[in-house]
Amino acid sequence: MANPTTEPEIRGEPCHAAAWQAVLADAIRDPSELRRLLDLPPGPAAPEGRFPMLVPRPYLARIRRSDPQDPLLLQILPRPEESIATPRFSADPLGESAARRGPGLLGKYPGRSLIVTTGVCAVHCRFCFRRHFPYPSHDAEPEALDQAVRQIAADTSLGEVILSGGDPLTLTDCRLAELSQRLARIGHLRRLRVHTRMPIVIPQRVTPELISWLRGTRLTPIMVVHVNHPAEIDTAVADALGRLVDAGVAVLSQTVLLRAVNDRVDVLAELCQRLVDLRVMPYYLHQLDRVAGAAHFEVPEARGRALVAELRARLPGYAVPRYVREVPEATSKIALA
Ligand SMILES: *Cc1c(COP(=O)(O)O)cnc(C)c1O
Ligand code: SF4
Repeated sequence: MANPTTEPEIRGEPCHAAAWQAVLADAIRDPSELRRLLDLPPGPAAPEGRFPMLVPRPYLARIRRSDPQDPLLLQILPRPEESIATPRFSADPLGESAARRGPGLLGKYPGRSLIVTTGVCAVHCRFCFRRHFPYPSHDAEPEALDQAVRQIAADTSLGEVILSGGDPLTLTDCRLAELSQRLARIGHLRRLRVHTRMPIVIPQRVTPELISWLRGTRLTPIMVVHVNHPAEIDTAVADALGRLVDAGVAVLSQTVLLRAVNDRVDVLAELCQRLVDLRVMPYYLHQLDRVAGAAHFEVPEARGRALVAELRARLPGYAVPRYVREVPEATSKIALA
């Protein structure tokens, strides 16, 4: 981890080491230790390859002990099924290599450009479509970010920048504040969006410094949080989301439809209602991207459509997320229901 004292000061705010950085550094990386902490029997050794287990303790605390089928556990524990090759599940299912506009910049959809700020995440979700990506296991080089900012400045068709990764909120607030200031100086930009799982995984990440740069930018701040199950939202997470909304950030959610995790209407309905109660608007329900090693998480589209139809029958319209899938070369995500 970078030494925070070497970072520049932004708007008079010192870049002190934040509590969340220690929480991230203290994450569980050994599956046998995880099993021991959760009172689970020793399991089969699962090949982790380039995508090792990573589970911070605040997330671990929400996993039920002695339950091998816990929906949070299933998302983070490497399983032998990950090494099963399945036809039509590939290393780059979205053709993102083709959408690369430079190191650290993806331009796939009109008007929006996505900066890959870092390869680092706060948790390694076993179904992640980026699990085989040749992302660096560290933050983007300053030169790559410089180039991304220059390319965005040169393209007046862009109105919105999406900070993604990895998880952009694994970067320090100093670096993010500086990046947001540079983006705000680009006249044609209107909105700054952050795609993150951090407020769900390590809610301590929603610091006063984070709120400060989100509030302070000329750009309209939007945050899309990745959340898959109501049990992921404990009191600390609810508070963190509340601080973001109170600060004037439009907070939306995205959820991946996952077998045995959230493929029941009761679970999805509770998730959506809990989010709406917290003033977070359900945005996307994603059909799983067909990434090699994740086939055991796939829910058939017909089942997904039936689930969404049931949600629509039960919930107010604004509480029902758009069920979509990502298709290489399409100019938007494709609606499935
Ligand atoms: C999903 C995605 C976006 C954002 O799409 P919206 O429909 O605007 O939420 C932008 N760029 C890439 C590469 C994406 O995958
Ligand atoms: S947080 Fe997002 S990018 Fe990181 S492993 Fe999970 S799904 Fe993938």
